[in-house]
Amino acid sequence: MSPIVFAGFAPHPPLLIEGVGDEHKPEAAQTDEAYRQLAARLVETQPNTVIVVTPHGPVFSDAYTIPGWDTLHGDFTPFGSAVSMTWEANTGYSRQAETLAAKKGLPLVVVNSRQLASHRYSTGLDHGTMVPLWYLQAAGWKGKVVCIRIGGLPPRQCYEIGKVLAETSGDEKIALIASGDMSHCLKENGPSPYNPVGLEFDETVVAALEKSDYQAVLAIPPEFRQRAAECGWRPLVTLLGALDGRESKSQVLSYQGPFGVGYLVAIFTLEDGERQGLTFPLNTPEDASIYTQLARKAIRQYLIKEETIEIESPEPPLDRPQAAFVSLKLDDQLRGCIGTIEPKYEHLGAEIVANAIAAATTDPRFDRVTISDLEQLSISVDLLSEPVPATYSQLDPSKLGLIAQWRGRRGLLLPDLSGVDTPEEQLEIALRKGGIPKEKAREAKLYTFTVERHY
Ligand SMILES: [Zn+2]
Repeated sequence: MSPIVFAGFAPHPPLLIEGVGDEHKPEAAQTDEAYRQLAARLVETQPNTVIVVTPHGPVFSDAYTIPGWDTLHGDFTPFGSAVSMTWEANTGYSRQAETLAAKKGLPLVVVNSRQLASHRYSTGLDHGTMVPLWYLQAAGWKGKVVCIRIGGLPPRQCYEIGKVLAETSGDEKIALIASGDMSHCLKENGPSPYNPVGLEFDETVVAALEKSDYQAVLAIPPEFRQRAAECGWRPLVTLLGALDGRESKSQVLSYQGPFGVGYLVAIFTLEDGERQGLTFPLNTPEDASIYTQLARKAIRQYLIKEETIEIESPEPPLDRPQAAFVSLKLDDQLRGCIGTIEPKYEHLGAEIVANAIAAATTDPRFDRVTISDLEQLSISVDLLSEPVPATYSQLDPSKLGLIAQWRGRRGLLLPDLSGVDTPEEQLEIALRKGGIPKEKAREAKLYTFTVERHY
């Protein structure tokens, strides 16, 4: 029988914690109240272990990790608060979950503190874990903790790892909290540049959970999630995996976004009976732009017949010469990306066709895409503006792409990529891609450009 007795989804703004930005607390009062309600409901189910699934702390792209040491400690000093906490870890459960996951070929790995320290990672708890635990402590809960840090895995694996958490037995009664914020781009002055997609994303998740429609959560396309700049979707999918096959109802306790980040508090009540497991949707949007439709068509034709589509007399907007990049993703993972800094062909149509085929078949970082991969791929096409010379202080990785040039070498990075947040990171990657030694950064000529990204 599944040990899961309760599940909840909750945000993790440190601002909710005593001593952090107290003057702003009234604006988040609704979230605070809902959080206390969630904690009270959890305590009622009397779990002896709480699993927190967090998107923060040292996060690896290819595995979920669990801190494997006995005593978990963390504090809010970096946020200016004296609050600290210490929890006993349920290492027995963690080891069992790791073993079960390994049997299914899923990367859920218990790491020790020495391994983390040797990579210069902090061994303290992250705020994604601490904020929910702070509320549980306040509600009087005592017990053992398992902290699970998500990895950048395909959504299907996140879901499967959730299933493992529910299949790991023992004498435990377990509550699971998926810790995550919704969109970070709800407002002009928020942490990410304003994008109306943010609110649309948040509303989609809220509406789905109000109806206990978990399939609708899974159906959110990767590009939509990325543009919404959220950190809660994968933890939520992991939670849904842990509830796989069991009847349950979700209830939204609160949603607000007072500082440009969406805070959603929701609880999941487990009921008797079974629920149909969820399926992972294919990603072939019918409302794709003409650019990505052309790219997909070109790849398909090439994979099936080794033929390149000829466009005799292209119509606007495909008729003018323009530089373009074609990016392919499988689930959320890059699967190929090739493009041109200056147009190579007479018109954009031919540019897209050539780059799409190259992204699918000759990107040196990846195996060739197969025809069955193609059905699952999401495609985006970036149309590039003319590059203009720039200085380091003008870099803005959220809006501007970067070209770094040194002697004959040239590295390019598109703007608005997940995981590239600072000019420093952007420059470092551009240098690396161009094979330009880091110490030559000052000699490198920089150019920025804008893109129009089409899905
Ligand atoms: Zn977050």
